[in-house]
Amino acid sequence: MFYVIDASNSVVEVGSDWDSFLTNNGGVAHAERSRVIGQPLDRFLAGDATKMFVRAALDAARLFGQTRVLPYRCDSPTERRMFEMVICPADSGHVKVEHRLVSSQARPNRPAGAGDRPNAASTAGWRCSQCLAVRHAGSATWLSADLAGAGGPLAQDVCPSCASMLFT
Ligand SMILES: [Zn+2]
Repeated sequence: MFYVIDASNSVVEVGSDWDSFLTNNGGVAHAERSRVIGQPLDRFLAGDATKMFVRAALDAARLFGQTRVLPYRCDSPTERRMFEMVICPADSGHVKVEHRLVSSQARPNRPAGAGDRPNAASTAGWRCSQCLAVRHAGSATWLSADLAGAGGPLAQDVCPSCASMLFT
């Protein structure tokens, strides 16, 4: 699945598999391919932390003129899935972003992230939108999604480990 954005981060092109990608990832009905072109990319990202992270990743790719590969995790209801986001700068500030499935394995429990509220001022804690690690309120430690237990609902953030990938 890929999309191309222009210099102002509006979508100018999406791959033909966009619709099935969204459906498989809990996407929202207003985001069908035909209605995505010309819209700001922000509209299709959940949570302020993720929006800021993706914006920074796009700007870093433009600034350095280099393709960047950022791993992330996005579980389906039955599988633990690892993806990578390949960010490829092009002419005139355009950037092509491709999402590739790297691996998946069955997981018996409910998917990590189910029930989270991206913009909530949660008292339970925060979940990294990229690797799904969890930081419980009152703790400074990020736990891997598989160790953190269900908990929640959690607000969204980007953990230091994922944030640092933008600058390496
Ligand atoms: Zn993370």
